[in-house]
Amino acid sequence: MSVSEKVSLSDALSNVDVLDELTLPDEQPCIEAAPCSILYQANFDTNFEDRNGFVTGIAKYIEEATVHANLNELLEEGNAHAVMLYTWRCCSRAIPQPRSNEQPDRVHIYERTVQVLAPEVDKLLQFMYFQRKAIERFCGEVRRLCHAEKRRDFVSEAYLLTLGKFVNMFAVLDELKNMKSSVKNDYSTYRRAAQFLKVMSDSQSLQESQNLSMFLATQNKIRDTVKDALEKINVREPTNQDPLVCVRGVLACFSNEEIVDHIRAQNGHILDGVDKASLRMKVRYRKRARNPLECNPVIELSPELWKRFTKNQKIYVGFGRCSVEDQSPLVQCLKCLGYGHTKALCKEQKDVCSHCGGEHTGRDCPSKAKNEPPKCVNCTRAKKNSSDLVHTAYSMECQERQKWDGIARSRVQYC
Ligand SMILES: [Zn+2]
Ligand SMILES: [Zn+2]
Ligand SMILES: [Zn+2]
Repeated sequence: MSVSEKVSLSDALSNVDVLDELTLPDEQPCIEAAPCSILYQANFDTNFEDRNGFVTGIAKYIEEATVHANLNELLEEGNAHAVMLYTWRCCSRAIPQPRSNEQPDRVHIYERTVQVLAPEVDKLLQFMYFQRKAIERFCGEVRRLCHAEKRRDFVSEAYLLTLGKFVNMFAVLDELKNMKSSVKNDYSTYRRAAQFLKVMSDSQSLQESQNLSMFLATQNKIRDTVKDALEKINVREPTNQDPLVCVRGVLACFSNEEIVDHIRAQNGHILDGVDKASLRMKVRYRKRARNPLECNPVIELSPELWKRFTKNQKIYVGFGRCSVEDQSPLVQCLKCLGYGHTKALCKEQKDVCSHCGGEHTGRDCPSKAKNEPPKCVNCTRAKKNSSDLVHTAYSMECQERQKWDGIARSRVQYC
């Protein structure tokens, strides 16, 4: 049909009616596949093999999953060593000992002793190497956690539980080693025979043999090594964080760098005489302002600048004169209303109401709609008296907030 050809509405309708008369043969052959069953097996025990899913996302998660998978492998290896120790049965009692130096088959007995015990001794050697490796790895992880930057970062609970399993593994292995005297007896039988035959001729294997005897003979060797290694890790409580101020009503179109540049350039009267090192300032984050064109940046600055800014209460930023006030370093989660983490890192599934503590947002609170008095969820969790609960979870009067605020501020240097 060409485009120019006109079709009237009645023509079109009658064409559709004609379709009704079209006969559709009903005896079409029906082709159907034979039914087959699908066996579905869920496998949750992948030890993070599917971590490549993070490859296009956040690199640090793939890293964390890799670390976690390695740790789990070490734990499994440790378990195998524990089984080895637990099921160890004394071999040396079954082995005949030469009674005197003149006994003619002495060499033969020693040769056979070495032959029989060598594979068992190798297991003990592997066990010693393993605990060295595991202790080194465990302390490496603890050292990483103690790093000042890492301490501000999120650490997953699963990872911490895995580290807890390491502590457990060390204790189990140590106790098994302590109580299995058959292990030590078998090793000294082997060692006597090997020394007689001079099997261990090079200095390195002699040294390893000496190390292994000491390792097996020393009670609590594994735990003591872990303790010594942990004590050497340098943990410093960060007590010299810079204080914060919140500036109100800055134009949101400025970049963080521009905000800092403007403050530096326009407030000579406040900054006069401040030494260069104390001029440090950086926008940590922005709080939303009522006016959508504006924002309230939170700025981290030197104690000297904090004193001058909070005393002045006003600074120039861009085209405006903005008020400045002290900002608490305490972080409160907007989802669960707890302290010390932000909404992005919150582990709770459901919103918590700032008014009544129920499972809804403060905006949808039925109790608030009925003008009922608030009930602070944080004070409820802390089991305060019912008379101390009558405020919202954002209230500055909240005793829990004041407690955590004090803790957060104790790390900040204000003067
Ligand atoms: Zn939270
Ligand atoms: Zn509510
Ligand atoms: Zn409260």
